[in-house]
Amino acid sequence: MENILRSIDPLTGEAIGSLPVSKPQDIQDMVEKAHKAQRVWSSKSLQERVQLLQQAYTKLNAEEGELAQLISREMGKDARRAQYEAGGVVQGGAWLAGDAGEALRTKRSGGSEIQYRPLGVVAVISPWNYPLAMANNLIVPALVAGNAVILKPSEESPLVADLLVKTLNQILPQDILQIAHGDGATGEALVKSPINMVAFTGSRTTGQKIMANAAPALKRLVMELGGNDPMIVLQSANIPQAAQFAVGSSFENSGQMCTSTERIYVDEKIADKFENAVVALAKQYRVGGWQEPQVDIGPLVNHRQHQKVVEHIHDALNKGAKLLLGERDPQLPFIPPTVISGIRPGMLVEDDETFGPIVAIDRFSSVDDVVERANNSVYGLGAVVFGESKQAEQVASQLQAGMIGINQGAGGSPWVGAKQSGFGFHGGAEGHRQFAQITVLNR
Ligand code: NAD
Repeated sequence: MENILRSIDPLTGEAIGSLPVSKPQDIQDMVEKAHKAQRVWSSKSLQERVQLLQQAYTKLNAEEGELAQLISREMGKDARRAQYEAGGVVQGGAWLAGDAGEALRTKRSGGSEIQYRPLGVVAVISPWNYPLAMANNLIVPALVAGNAVILKPSEESPLVADLLVKTLNQILPQDILQIAHGDGATGEALVKSPINMVAFTGSRTTGQKIMANAAPALKRLVMELGGNDPMIVLQSANIPQAAQFAVGSSFENSGQMCTSTERIYVDEKIADKFENAVVALAKQYRVGGWQEPQVDIGPLVNHRQHQKVVEHIHDALNKGAKLLLGERDPQLPFIPPTVISGIRPGMLVEDDETFGPIVAIDRFSSVDDVVERANNSVYGLGAVVFGESKQAEQVASQLQAGMIGINQGAGGSPWVGAKQSGFGFHGGAEGHRQFAQITVLNR
């Protein structure tokens, strides 16, 4: 990588800003400074740390609009969704700090005292698809627990992360929260440096590399990885509701959401009606740039991701799937709302995480077989069933996923994956405590 990291607007292909790449020596210096600062930070009381963070979040209020705009400009999210993400982080930061403070309070268990002590220096490595929320979810509890944090944001969205860190640092003590910029090489240098924990959100492939590089020192790990979420639509499902969810979840964030619905299996007895409803709804989705009103599907984050989605479409159509809506060869930077039916195992849309605005459907005749097919994935992030509640519960009880939705979306707090979608959490008491060394004291 060059010495300069340029942030590219996916709509125009133009650079909207640049930052210096953190070189190996910079990483070493940051880690040394972080260890020093962490010793002072951890000597503050839990309450003091929570209060300082809450104060720091008030500084973000003035930046909410700029943060939202940077999200849009760096990764293409429409203005409405970007505002929602920025608002959630800015308005929710103080709450998150308080919630982490509650979870990390010393407790008694039997005759012992349970303390939640800091681990040291935590590397937070984040993706571009929710560039502010994904970083923030892990930074806040790590800091509350008394650790120092070095954030390595995605190379696709460095500016928004930089503004977050700079603004919080108006209040936070020096070197407690630092930021390293660059691509995977910067991330790798950070993981291999003498830090104590890596809290990672991103793809499964990168997760594997991080795990291998963290192994020699047995560094603590949080792994929030990709998904290939199935949706099962039973014969008893409310078809309009199921279709609404199928389209909304497949297209959310232009399909670039870890819990996007990636493959849909519908009972063959209702399949025609369901597919018709899906196509009718999908046609209403508007494609365009982030600042255009009522846009639902923005440009994909970069050429590589666009190419990958086109490859998935070609692969499916070449192997016999049908294009019910969309284009065989969508032009950069957009993928219009796409509906494909007749997907099969062995197709990329069925086997891999596509991460694009595609509703991918197949029909089933046996519930037992479809449960097996839904579970036939290395991933296990979310899964969804639509149908009469008792039947849907029965199916849900057999699904292998960290988060399962019955007649609604999957997800909550803690946010958690199963199988190779990772381990560890975003949020919840379990999530906050993963940033602490649990110490059992008997006196
Ligand atoms: P990615 O794995 O390509 O990159 C994520 C981060 O890892 C970036 O900051 C990148 O620079 C860094 N990185 C790359 N190689 C590295 C290495 N060898 N060592 C250390 N760091 C390295 O993922 P992405 O494309 O930014 O994000 C999309 C992926 O993230 C999808 O798979 C999506 O499902 C997943 N995701 C999961 C969740 C969740 O909660 N489970 C949430 C959001 C995104």
